[in-house]
Amino acid sequence: MRPQQVTMERKDAEREAVFELRNVSVFYGSQKAVNDVSMDIYRNTITALIGPSGCGKSTLLRSLNRMNDLIPDARVEGEVLYQGADMYSPRVNPVQVRKKIGMVFQRPNPFPKSIYDNVAFGPRTLGMTGDMDEIVERALRGAALWDDVKDRLKDNAYGMSGGQQQRLCIARAIATEPEVILMDEPCSALDPVSTGRIEDLMLELKERFTIVVVTHNMQQAARVSDMTAFLMVQMGADEHSRWGELVEYDETNRIFTNPADERTDNYVSGRIG
Ligand code: ADP
Ligand code: MG
Repeated sequence: MRPQQVTMERKDAEREAVFELRNVSVFYGSQKAVNDVSMDIYRNTITALIGPSGCGKSTLLRSLNRMNDLIPDARVEGEVLYQGADMYSPRVNPVQVRKKIGMVFQRPNPFPKSIYDNVAFGPRTLGMTGDMDEIVERALRGAALWDDVKDRLKDNAYGMSGGQQQRLCIARAIATEPEVILMDEPCSALDPVSTGRIEDLMLELKERFTIVVVTHNMQQAARVSDMTAFLMVQMGADEHSRWGELVEYDETNRIFTNPADERTDNYVSGRIG
């Protein structure tokens, strides 16, 4: 077997699809926000969703853990397979889905509780068994926060810096041992140093989790992600119909250096925004 063949086969073997999106469209009422997206999202990779504001990145991200269910009038068409099974089947419990697929938001949103109780909240709610101190420590270590907070676990989370609060939210998300972490612009409220720490953390976390991250920061997508999906707003026949579409999805390196679609090239090179 030639070396190149070995590499190719290993690559395919590594690429196990966790999500398979088949013709996914998302509506708010009668308004279509995301049109006909098909893509696979791979295990233990970081997948970035990029594109201009309003192109449906957050909407698409929320379709991956049924968060859109919580928005009145939101509706998902097409198929989202999670580990091969239809995530929107009536037999699937959305609460169970969100347990396996955690989420971190743009603004750090700790609860007005102690650092400890923030991390313990999910495991307690889910009735996770085991030593809670150990669960909390493991999650805080996983979020690169343990050394910062180990002597003040009973302090209120609101006393932490913004960057620490966001790492606390990551600790809270991983405390329940999800399989996937969805992040919606997790660094957009943070300074560059805190952003760097979150990016380093993401690279560590992808060894254990599958990460999908929305970012409007193209440098961030280029730095951390393995795969990048570029979405854009498309205008329909009349002025009221506009929706987001997937323009191109490929390895990040390809998207940023040699994209197949001219629109991707224009966007990543900053010619359009
Ligand atoms: P992005 O994250 O790329 O900025 P969004 O997914 O937030 O884009 O929004 C895509 C489109 O859906 C926009 O036109 C936006 O106004 C609309 N939209 C987003 N959230 C809602 C909502 N809760 N209700 C109605 N329309 C929404
Ligand atoms: Mg958004």
